[in-house]
Amino acid sequence: METDLIIIGAGPVGLLSAYLARRCGFDVVIIDKCEGPLQVGRADALNARTLQLFQIVDLFDELYPQGKPCNTSSVWADGRFVSRQSEWWDKLEGCFHKHFLMLGQSFVEQILDRKLKELESPVRRETEVESLEMTDQGCRVVTSDGSVLTSKYVIGADGSRSWVRNHLNIPFSIVRPQIVWAVIDGVLDTDFPKVPEIIVFQNETSDVAWIPREGDIDRFYIRMDTHDFTYEQALERIQKAVQPHRLDFEKVVWFSQFSVKESVAAKYGVDNKVFLAGDACHIHSVNGGQGLNTGLADAFNLIWKLNMVEHHGADPELLDSYENERRPVALSVIDSSGELVRATKYSDQGTHATDYVKIVERRAGNITGMGIRYGGEGLEGSRLHDFEYQSEGRTTRAYSNLDYTKFTLFLFGEMDQEIEVPEFVRVVKVDPENAPLEYQGKAVLTRPDAYIQAVAPLQNTEELTKKLQPASSPFSFR
Ligand SMILES: Cc1cc2nc3c(=O)[nH]c(=O)nc-3n(C[C@H](O)[C@H](O)[C@H](O)COP(=O)(O)OP(=O)(O)OC[C@H]3O[C@@H](n4cnc5c(N)ncnc54)[C@H](O)[C@@H]3O)c2cc1C
Repeated sequence: METDLIIIGAGPVGLLSAYLARRCGFDVVIIDKCEGPLQVGRADALNARTLQLFQIVDLFDELYPQGKPCNTSSVWADGRFVSRQSEWWDKLEGCFHKHFLMLGQSFVEQILDRKLKELESPVRRETEVESLEMTDQGCRVVTSDGSVLTSKYVIGADGSRSWVRNHLNIPFSIVRPQIVWAVIDGVLDTDFPKVPEIIVFQNETSDVAWIPREGDIDRFYIRMDTHDFTYEQALERIQKAVQPHRLDFEKVVWFSQFSVKESVAAKYGVDNKVFLAGDACHIHSVNGGQGLNTGLADAFNLIWKLNMVEHHGADPELLDSYENERRPVALSVIDSSGELVRATKYSDQGTHATDYVKIVERRAGNITGMGIRYGGEGLEGSRLHDFEYQSEGRTTRAYSNLDYTKFTLFLFGEMDQEIEVPEFVRVVKVDPENAPLEYQGKAVLTRPDAYIQAVAPLQNTEELTKKLQPASSPFSFR
């Protein structure tokens, strides 16, 4: 069977990659060895950048009401409230949802799994990859159900033990800082004054964190540093941290343990035919809630580039930028989550929890997702700020009016002459009074993943045309 794109692994990153690719008109085959999408556990938060990106591709409206907004981290010590912080969220500019959305990974997987069925590309379940070869034309994959599939591209979104990564001999050396966590999701019975915020407990150590979740569920992370412990022992640590309050679980939904491992793959792909995304190319501690969010951003970065190359004549070199842009982000995520997790235990001054929150503040760009940018300084390479403007007599938002299959050229003011653009660029005129100050009087060319490709003053047609036609981009303004 011939297809455009084979995706190995239907975790959140493989599912989103398939969904975006279908929206861009690709034929997709996605396989997974499991029988269905996740039902409980794993990632618990979508950051503000993921929420913005979900808005572009019609996932936001259904997911948002199911989660719980949370932008506050507080510190408690010996049963008393110490401090509460949310400035790094409040200070965010160009964004309407300045918080995490506390929502389990299973919700993301289930909606995407369903959407793929609606788009007539359901996940082929209980199917493993058996072989992968690269040919002159593309790739050839054999799966455990005996299918032989050929495609131009393959994405390995097959998680931290990636078969695809191993098969391609891509180095992935793992640092193991010997930190082991217990995690419990469940319905609480407590007299603790419960509020929807992340609480770090400063006791003898700061190794217990309380994370609010959707519905009536709450989560606790408990640092145990041994694999050999029981549920009762983990619960005892929580009970000690919340003293003098009382806490028990009325119902446990998920109890698990994991040890921290850190790595970034040496390469994100081979020959621009096979790519890695998500945990297949980066793993790290869960502190800061960056794993799922970083993987989803990989998918948003990669798929539009495949679309431009396959459907709009872009130079295949554009695909090199996937690794060039996303690998440094993964390295910065390792730094920030690594600093956080190492601060959970040790403190000379006995101020562990307060110090932890200070690191969160310093690393807020990663944690909110809003500090990620591609390339140097200035507007080019930065994320497009969201803003409201009037269109056809009604108020609309920049992000709800972006189209993932196209570039958007915002004109924030009047131009001396009309500009002709190729069919993959939408032109949106915005009254400059509605625009963020830094965009006024400019043309802002925005990539499908809502990062700014180029900016030029509207009145300088020569610079505008030059800026909008970089040799490596898919543009050919006439
Ligand atoms: C306890 C815990 C808490 C976490 N908390 C957070 C958090 O708060 N925020 C956050 O952002 N991240 C968090 N993470 C990380 C997050 O869960 C992962 O980053 C995310 O699942 C990565 O998604 P993925 O699609 O890349 O990989 P996975 O979710 O691992 O999916 C890989 C898929 O590939 C399939 N597969 C594997 N091998 C094959 C094969 N050979 N053939 C076919 N299919 C295959 C698997 O069945 C699986 O479905 C947490 C993780 C854990 C364990």
